[in-house]
Amino acid sequence: MDIGDDLQFDFLVIGSGVAGSTLALKLATLGTVALVSKEALGETNTRYAQGGIASVFLEDDSYEAHTRDTLIAGAGLCHEDVVRKVVSAGPASIRALIGQGVEFTPRASPEEPFEYHLTREGGHTARRIIHSKDATGAAVQEALVEAVLADKNITVLEHHTCIDLIVTDKACPDFSRNRALGAYVISEKESRIHSVLARGTFLATGGHGKLYLYTTNPDSSTGDGVAMAWRAGARVANLEFMQFHPTCLYSPQAKTFLISEALRGEGAILLSRSGDRFMENVDPRRELAPRDIVARAIDSEIKRTGEPFVLLDISHKPADFIRTHFPNIHATCLSVGIDITREPIPVVPAAHYSCGGVVTDTRGRTGIKALWCLGEAACTGLHGANRLASNSLLEGLTFAEFVFQDVASLWNDLRTFEPIGNVPQWQIGKACEPDEMVVVSQLWDEIRRTMWNYVGIVRSEKRLARADARLRQILDEIENYYWDALPSRALIEVRNLAVVGMLTIKCARLRKESRGIHFSLDYPETDDEHFKKDTVLT
Ligand SMILES: Cc1cc2nc3c(=O)[nH]c(=O)nc-3n(C[C@H](O)[C@H](O)[C@H](O)COP(=O)(O)OP(=O)(O)OC[C@H]3O[C@@H](n4cnc5c(N)ncnc54)[C@H](O)[C@@H]3O)c2cc1C
Repeated sequence: MDIGDDLQFDFLVIGSGVAGSTLALKLATLGTVALVSKEALGETNTRYAQGGIASVFLEDDSYEAHTRDTLIAGAGLCHEDVVRKVVSAGPASIRALIGQGVEFTPRASPEEPFEYHLTREGGHTARRIIHSKDATGAAVQEALVEAVLADKNITVLEHHTCIDLIVTDKACPDFSRNRALGAYVISEKESRIHSVLARGTFLATGGHGKLYLYTTNPDSSTGDGVAMAWRAGARVANLEFMQFHPTCLYSPQAKTFLISEALRGEGAILLSRSGDRFMENVDPRRELAPRDIVARAIDSEIKRTGEPFVLLDISHKPADFIRTHFPNIHATCLSVGIDITREPIPVVPAAHYSCGGVVTDTRGRTGIKALWCLGEAACTGLHGANRLASNSLLEGLTFAEFVFQDVASLWNDLRTFEPIGNVPQWQIGKACEPDEMVVVSQLWDEIRRTMWNYVGIVRSEKRLARADARLRQILDEIENYYWDALPSRALIEVRNLAVVGMLTIKCARLRKESRGIHFSLDYPETDDEHFKKDTVLT
């Protein structure tokens, strides 16, 4: 492992999903951009999004209705100004994607009121989900990657992992106000650590589903942005609100494959293995109830029956309809021996989306100068205590524009700032190659199992206290090990997971009520008097 050269850009964007790539393309009209991603540029959470993007397109729909649905899902904690801003910026951001070449599924016939097919998902009172068959994220990600690669002002640093942000509070404490200067970045292929300096730094690092044993998220979702921002001195909030997707394919061959909500939108029903349509006794909206209600009902059905899964059945629909609308789900299920046109799909809930993250204002500012955060890593106030389906791609797209507008308005000031010449390089010291990587995988397993068992869909004070004690111990072990070993992606990620796990437990222990997707057996009621507010950690 070597120390590499210092690299310098106008902007450092960390993360190449919908939020980071969209922003990088906009910033490239102002100056030079480094776009960093842990894996190949297109291998992001965004790539796996299936259902689509929520926005208002029909005459009998309205911004008011989309706002109302979002506020209802958010259970009293959405920031209404943010919701309105995002919802009304939605159609333009989707038109921009169409301009970038994303092929959304067209309407089936000219009688349909809009040129593209719009589907409906749980919690939405109108058809407003624009999609590209059942692989919307892949279509969006591919178009963005193509545009990024064609942009001469963007330097792509793939297979590079940011270790930590460089901020003046740590690098040069004589600065009056904490300011971001860039990040320490490890290049996996060259085995070098670079200081990447920039006039503006942007965290778009996605979520942290990997904190849990079962998750729909890909391997890169380890909460690095939240952990790095926290260590740099930013505030984080609402981490107790982890959304569990109710329906993940239960199969030893394909543990993390998500079965989109759109299946239920098109009439799929949930059954226990004995054939009971159990949602009928849970909520009048049955399968179209919001995710938290469906996930808890499945969790309780699994616990009640002792069966490892429940069934999701769409086989009553015509086979052609299923194959045309859900080609990706149909093919993946078929590859593990399930023909969804003829039989039900075994499903379980899995950690899916983090509503909490780094606290930002409506422009994506974090409180640390020259550091913005957007996408799933941020807590902007849009989702409150529960995300409305398909609002997250929308958030990434619209906040890319809000952040860009903010940077453009500051550009005259920002462009004269010289990232400091004498930023200390990363200190390798006496650190050496770890002799046993099994230490890291053991810690990783323990964190994910602890979070799943004690900080999962249903929580209690006792479970949270147990998780707290265990995570503290694990964090200590990691910190002791961390500084003796040369940094590697695995070590960086496990450290970040432990930090985000601790912060999640802290948030969950502070919320002594049940609200949105945080459910406590000890406090099953919502308590507006004391807890109708964000859980902010400083
Ligand atoms: C299976 C699935 C289905 C979904 N379906 C939908 C849907 O239908 N509609 C919807 O709105 N949302 C959906 N979501 C949620 C949505 O996909 C995500 O919230 C969204 O894509 C997040 O985008 P992002 O740009 O914030 O982050 P991501 O797309 O996750 O990108 C994160 C980027 O950060 C990089 N990164 C992370 N840490 C580091 C580091 N330390 N150093 C360098 N780079 C780093 C990663 O490599 C990656 O490039 C779905 C999610 C999943 C998993």
